[in-house]
Amino acid sequence: MKSNQITLTFSSIPENVSIARLLIASVGGQLDLPLNDIEELKVAISEAVSNAIIHGYQSNPQHIVYLNLDIAVDNLTITVKDEGCGISDVAQAMQPAFSTDSERMGLGFVFMQSFMDELQVDSELEVGTTVTMIKHLKPTPISSH
Ligand code: ATP
Ligand code: MG
Repeated sequence: MKSNQITLTFSSIPENVSIARLLIASVGGQLDLPLNDIEELKVAISEAVSNAIIHGYQSNPQHIVYLNLDIAVDNLTITVKDEGCGISDVAQAMQPAFSTDSERMGLGFVFMQSFMDELQVDSELEVGTTVTMIKHLKPTPISSH
């Protein structure tokens, strides 16, 4: 597939989690990824966007989430950014079952980690959080298209 850049900015409302899922499903389909991989990408993007809305913006709907997809020959890079409260200790936040909300499972980062090939979290208190997730793509044989 040709290289492609997609940027989507949207309000920090939970309804937009499904918009992000639709977008990544469409891109995954264009890349001819197996259905299972597409399902995993949908989960990873949902978790990152949900975190931006619920934690970054503390469920205040009047903010903006920034989503960027970068499709290159061998990588699909998903970036989810918020300009919210930030994370005080990223390593601790990424621990399985760690959550600052006792009602939650603390598994979002675990899913992102296990479903993507690379995960990077950059965060600064009162500035915001950027989650970068990379999926390595297998080269498509020229004869198949
Ligand atoms: P679950 O995802 O299972 O519903 P969770 O959201 O608490 O629970 P993770 O997604 O793994 O679990 O996130 C762990 C913790 O990291 C959160 O509880 C929150 O404190 C912090 N966190 C994650 N993303 C952000 C963000 N964008 N801004 C601020 N804090 C965040
Ligand atoms: Mg979460």
